[in-house]
Amino acid sequence: MTMGMTPEQLKGLIETLARTVIAEADRLTALDQAIGDGDHGLNMKRGFEAVLADLDGLARKPLPDAIKAIGTHLVMKVGGASGPLYGTLFLTIGKELPAAPGLADFAKAFAAAFEAVKARGKSDRGQKTMLDVLGPVSDALAGAAADPQLGDRLKRVATEAAEATVPMKAIRGRASFLGDRSIGHMDPGACSSALMIAAVVDFLETK
Ligand code: ADP
Ligand code: MG
Repeated sequence: MTMGMTPEQLKGLIETLARTVIAEADRLTALDQAIGDGDHGLNMKRGFEAVLADLDGLARKPLPDAIKAIGTHLVMKVGGASGPLYGTLFLTIGKELPAAPGLADFAKAFAAAFEAVKARGKSDRGQKTMLDVLGPVSDALAGAAADPQLGDRLKRVATEAAEATVPMKAIRGRASFLGDRSIGHMDPGACSSALMIAAVVDFLETK
């Protein structure tokens, strides 16, 4: 799994990411209907449709700039609580990455982005949010070697971390208004984070 890629590969990566989120929008919405206001899928779909509309422009940019520009689209289009948070995630990764990043650079950028999302959301792990997936993924990336199993490991960590939000009680975001009634449902933002991680890993493994 390497991060070096041609403009065509970058285009493929962004397109895969956007199409995955759009394809899963109904599932994200259903999760948000259970413990929120039912707009997470729509919010994410709107954001990634803006990304798709700018696909050629994004793919012409150097990788860090393309990731930053995705963050800007998400800030402008997703809305809700998740828009500024995912915007911060992508903007920070883009800001932290060197032009030709290796795995260690990516791990460092992801860790910085996780911290930035925490600060922006005034939140932390254990509160039943996207942070409960982003944190474990950041940990798994830290110090990881570029071994052939890394992609599978990252996907497993992300999927299990999203599942682990089911028994949690929400203490941040709209779901926290439900108190104990938020228990027993997967957090929508944890789900969208896990599916974005899986989409990126799957693409990088087959490129
Ligand atoms: P809204 O809650 O405004 O309707 P969305 O439905 O798009 O926005 O996103 C909800 C998701 O955002 C939640 O499932 C949760 O993962 C994430 N979230 C909400 N508030 C926070 C926060 N303070 N910190 C981290 N993540 C949060
Ligand atoms: Mg919502």
